[in-house]
Amino acid sequence: MREELNLTRRLLIKGIVATCLLSITRVGFAAPTQILAARVWPSSTYTRITLESNVKLTYKHFTMNNPDRIVVDVDNVSLNPVLKKLQSQLFKDDPYIKTLRVAQYDPQTIRLVIGLKQGVKPHLFTSQPIAEFKNRLVIDLYPSNPKAVDDDPLLALLEEYNKGSLTEKPTNVATSTTKKSNKVVVMLDPGHGGEDPGAIGYKKTREKDVVLQIARRVRNLLKSESQIKVYMTRNEDVFLPLKVRVAKARAQRADLFISIHADAFASRSVNGSSVFSLSTRGASSSAASYLAQTQNEADEIGGVSRSGDKYLDNTILDLVQKTTLSNGVLLGTSILNRMKKVNKMHKPSIEKAGFAVLKAPDIPSVLVETAFISNPAEEQKLKTADFQNKVSKAIVEGIKDYIKKRKN
Ligand SMILES: [Zn+2]
Repeated sequence: MREELNLTRRLLIKGIVATCLLSITRVGFAAPTQILAARVWPSSTYTRITLESNVKLTYKHFTMNNPDRIVVDVDNVSLNPVLKKLQSQLFKDDPYIKTLRVAQYDPQTIRLVIGLKQGVKPHLFTSQPIAEFKNRLVIDLYPSNPKAVDDDPLLALLEEYNKGSLTEKPTNVATSTTKKSNKVVVMLDPGHGGEDPGAIGYKKTREKDVVLQIARRVRNLLKSESQIKVYMTRNEDVFLPLKVRVAKARAQRADLFISIHADAFASRSVNGSSVFSLSTRGASSSAASYLAQTQNEADEIGGVSRSGDKYLDNTILDLVQKTTLSNGVLLGTSILNRMKKVNKMHKPSIEKAGFAVLKAPDIPSVLVETAFISNPAEEQKLKTADFQNKVSKAIVEGIKDYIKKRKN
């Protein structure tokens, strides 16, 4: 066994050396590096700048004062129309960026100068091509002195995540210090966001937008329930890694977690709502396994740095408690029974799959596929206030049914 392992390792190292040699010899003939797209994603949590290129970018960055700015030099790149347009994407009300300039610094280097409105901690990384994205250089700007907003642990959790130190028990993050009241804490999780649009409908409706609208409607309804306290993982168009969503639910001591989606399927004719709970074994159907797989890619699509991500799925799966799982099924079934009255169900009962976002070991968690955005009729419905309200009411009634029946 040990021999075999060593052999695999040696082959792997050989492979890496070969790949390196190959890339060195190819340099002379390679197509010039080109920036294919450049985007700015402002949010109150953090602002992200993304440069997309045909090959992996090499770069360095440093900060300068008076005025405060961050300088990013990108090697082997020429200024092109895509880069020239970057500054026009800057929003006047971006919380972090005051000015954005790109110039050819020397024949081999372009220089990006980001003028700042407040103290910022930059986090830069590159990510590999995935889905329709090519190589990306990501520049995330986090506030260095975040304002305390409603004891929201999100920024602290993102910081731990970026350092690769977000474990199953966030250490440096103050979990909600207020004594746990008798209220049931609900964490709503609108899927996707920012660089990750989620599924896109035939008429270009983006999943990330409709699920945020639905989650806000659910939140507004829950706010008037005296026995419930409601939070959201995101309440703006921002990308959050899956594990940060789970960690936020744990930090705020959520009693239940509801991830809201409207995904696509390979065939446009597929329609109906579905409710999923976590499976520690396999998926209950091929569609369930397909959806879990596409959902679990959200981190790669949204763009995360993989520097020592210790929050591994298997350790979490081992921790998943039986009561959490059975309460998850009870919560899902309660929601499904209410959803039945407002939309056709894709499957008559709750489905199971290994969704990463459902893996909090102590919080019953479900994922609601409100409808298929890939189905033209459902895409149309998903955009209407009427359907959004009906789905939201069904989710709320389902939550209330569950609270009456749950096992402690
Ligand atoms: Zn989704």
